[in-house]
Amino acid sequence: MIPEKFDYVRPSSLAEAVQALADGGDDAKVIAGGQSLLPLLRLRLAYPSLLVDLGGLDGLRGVHDAGDALVIGAMTTMYSLIRDPLVREHCGLIAEAAGTVADPAVRHRATIGGSLAHADPAGDLPAVICALDARLVATGPGGEREIAPADYFVDYLTTALAPDEILTAIRVPKLGPGWGFRYEKFQPTVQAWAIVGVAALARRADGHVAEARVGLTNMATVPVRAHAAEAAAAGAQASREALAAAAANADEGSDPANDLRASADYRRHLARVLTGRALARAAGVR
Ligand SMILES: Cc1cc2nc3c(=O)[nH]c(=O)nc-3n(C[C@H](O)[C@H](O)[C@H](O)COP(=O)(O)OP(=O)(O)OC[C@H]3O[C@@H](n4cnc5c(N)ncnc54)[C@H](O)[C@@H]3O)c2cc1C
Repeated sequence: MIPEKFDYVRPSSLAEAVQALADGGDDAKVIAGGQSLLPLLRLRLAYPSLLVDLGGLDGLRGVHDAGDALVIGAMTTMYSLIRDPLVREHCGLIAEAAGTVADPAVRHRATIGGSLAHADPAGDLPAVICALDARLVATGPGGEREIAPADYFVDYLTTALAPDEILTAIRVPKLGPGWGFRYEKFQPTVQAWAIVGVAALARRADGHVAEARVGLTNMATVPVRAHAAEAAAAGAQASREALAAAAANADEGSDPANDLRASADYRRHLARVLTGRALARAAGVR
């Protein structure tokens, strides 16, 4: 189908983009890689009056070292995240998860900012950002603010971004020594969306897991932190059996959908199994 008519601007500075979005009112929308928005336009499920294209904002692309954190520009593509040496060194979980998104053609266009702004419950990066305790940086007419993931993801396809705000960056604390990571994704076919995904981080010390963090993909309308599994894993022996036991309540606090792809019970089962597996890999258990 052909999209509804819309106006289009391609600003060359962030200030211009924020102004254009504010001037466009509630019917204006940002476009980044277009991999989610263009299908919605073509199906006429979205019909903005104005599209503000962020493609000319080179300042929103790339990864910068900010001391104890990395600052990832919202327009950085999945393809770049997979290969970026800073990302691979300090928060490799992002590179690993980005590598599971769709296919190479989509990954060349899709951006981390687009993924986090679209907030699809089956999207892979939201749970990763939650597990990494990252902060989302938004810029609007009133200036810049940082938002914690728990406040940012509000509901299905809904975030705390105001209509006149642009997600400009993601600030990710660097993982220190001893941390390992793993993204486990259960998908019906290779390159498909997750039925359930698990983003796990574990800090290993003296053969035990000293600290663990787990984010769940597609286990509610928003990404979920598996706090019960995190607490059970802390202090557990770094073994497959002990971490599978720690994952026994990984689905606590989730509210998975019952749909044509999987029942809620099956998703709960997957969350427990994949959490045990992901924690074991993150803790270096072979
Ligand atoms: C065939 C296919 C398979 C896919 N498989 C997966 C998958 O397995 N896993 C996965 O996670 N994703 C998957 N995706 C989704 C893809 O990763 C998303 O399209 C992408 O993450 C959205 O990024 P984008 O840059 O294309 O955003 P766009 O499509 O340009 O925008 C998406 C939404 O976010 C808003 N937006 C974008 N950037 C900003 C910003 N900086 N500030 C404020 N609002 C913004 C837009 O207004 C729009 O509402 C798939 C997509 C396709 C087409």
